[in-house]
Amino acid sequence: MTTTASTAGSPFEYAPAPESRAVVDIASSYGLFIDGEFTPASDSGSFKTVNPATEEVLAEVAEATEEDVDRAVRAARRAQEKVWGPMPGRERAKYLFRIARLLAERSREFAVLETLDNGKPIRESRDVDVPTAAAHFFYYAGWADKLEHAGYGPDPRPHGVAAQVIPWNFPLLMLAWKIAPALATGNTVVLKPAETTPLTALLFADLLRQAELPPGVVNIVTGARATGSALVNHPDVDKIAFTGSTPVGKRIAQEIAGTRKHATLELGGKAANIVFDDAPIDQAIEGIVNGIFFNQGQVCCAGSRLLVQESIAEELVDRLKSRLGTLRVGDPMDKNTDVGAINSPQQLARITELTDAGTAEGATRWSPDCELPSSGYWFAPTLFTGVSAAHRIAREEIFGPVLSVLTFRTPAEAVAKANNTPYGLSAGIWTEKGSRILWMADQLRAGVVWSNTFNRFDPASPFGGYKESGYGREGGRHGLAPYLIEGSTY
Ligand code: NAD
Repeated sequence: MTTTASTAGSPFEYAPAPESRAVVDIASSYGLFIDGEFTPASDSGSFKTVNPATEEVLAEVAEATEEDVDRAVRAARRAQEKVWGPMPGRERAKYLFRIARLLAERSREFAVLETLDNGKPIRESRDVDVPTAAAHFFYYAGWADKLEHAGYGPDPRPHGVAAQVIPWNFPLLMLAWKIAPALATGNTVVLKPAETTPLTALLFADLLRQAELPPGVVNIVTGARATGSALVNHPDVDKIAFTGSTPVGKRIAQEIAGTRKHATLELGGKAANIVFDDAPIDQAIEGIVNGIFFNQGQVCCAGSRLLVQESIAEELVDRLKSRLGTLRVGDPMDKNTDVGAINSPQQLARITELTDAGTAEGATRWSPDCELPSSGYWFAPTLFTGVSAAHRIAREEIFGPVLSVLTFRTPAEAVAKANNTPYGLSAGIWTEKGSRILWMADQLRAGVVWSNTFNRFDPASPFGGYKESGYGREGGRHGLAPYLIEGSTY
């Protein structure tokens, strides 16, 4: 494959600094992880998972049928009733601490595998995804023996069996967001990773065996939409935790309406990153870049709309273009790479379709001069100016490295434009004035509002959406509530 990241426009040339692929053993095929064992699918069905940076097939992965999902749910039910539910919180905590420690010990292996299966730069999987996943297990281990002090009643009880379905953009981190609070509260789990990124979930299953987690407490069923649908519609599931697109989230909400199932839905976003004329411009530019080009923009809370105060718009866009010219696009395994591969050809097609619509609707498109590798799925960082609120690129989630720039004159106009979306996951405010930050944060209909920073995650901090970005909170003390009967007010 092409291994050289583009350095067009950069003042420096970097020598390639590839991470070693040899730190992880990838098997040629993987089974489902049910009741502590790896087993083939009941009909022997399987699918391929591919490295999006090279199109190389990494492994053949079992595709769970309805029968397999039923087996996994039954294993989870048995484990919940006989082992995990009755176990004192301080004992559950020991397992969670052990999982956290093992994740930290095996972090390089997980980071390399995540990058190979997802396409994100190794720097991100190494410095963000894996350490934050381990931190979630550490954090929730601390809650396991203190649930009666969490504010959800004197004796909060688990729901039972949690069905968890996750997307491909943060495969291991989303797994940690889901599994850590579920286990801390005494629930057992059946988790389905996304079909394009199943490998770190399967490596995690291996880690669970190393941690000697009792069989059936966590089960991993791999597969695509049919497997996910069988899982959320299984009659013996008590709680559903879904992270993914808004259309699939709506469909799940319809399917479980009228059942006893509780659900949290973490869905799409179209965040506004709002820059005032008194903002520290250099920091704001780094925050904008981190907000939308981090993880190739494949982030639900990505700052995909830049709202900039009119008086500084021209200067800010010029400086942003210079900064984009220094981004290194290419081999995700190279430690110097800033922007990696797009996860799948389907996602690349969606980004291409929406950006073409941006041009057709009259916005001005710009990308730095960068050479993309010849194999794999790639999209150059792209900036649109002259965008109006009616354009599709200002309204629809692109989920790619594409930024739409709009302008405003007053704080009230910034709020009106930022809130002019069906989504409400996150927002950013860049200004020197503390009072303005507080006023804006109060007005913005978004679950997370960052000020003078963007895309920062902490296990102690709740995360979740308003409006069509979903309901329920993950992370922090709030993230315990959806897994507890007394706390399940969602
Ligand atoms: P997706 O909705 O297509 O798929 C998500 C998961 O749901 C996958 O595992 C998929 O196999 C499964 N699935 C698909 N159809 C299903 C069905 N009918 N029933 C049950 N499961 C089904 O989303 P995606 O393309 O994998 O991920 C991108 C989306 O996820 C974006 O919209 C992004 O904003 C969102 N996301 C949200 C958050 C958040 O915290 N709010 C975090 C990450 C990603």
